[in-house]
Amino acid sequence: MTIALDDLEQQCWECQGSGRLPAVDGERKDGERTAGERVCPKCGGKGVVLTALGQTLLDFIRRHL
Ligand SMILES: [Zn+2]
Repeated sequence: MTIALDDLEQQCWECQGSGRLPAVDGERKDGERTAGERVCPKCGGKGVVLTALGQTLLDFIRRHL
């Protein structure tokens, strides 16, 4: 079985991989805010989100480290 990186993570669909979203006026949410933009809450600023397979693998690795 071969696992490709694309099987483990995918580009965040909220921010299109940038990790940032335009700040919304009047929005009050937790999280870092910079002028005009905020960290994408979906991916936490990484620009990628784990797939189910990626999450499983990460859980496995953490358990056995
Ligand atoms: Zn994102």
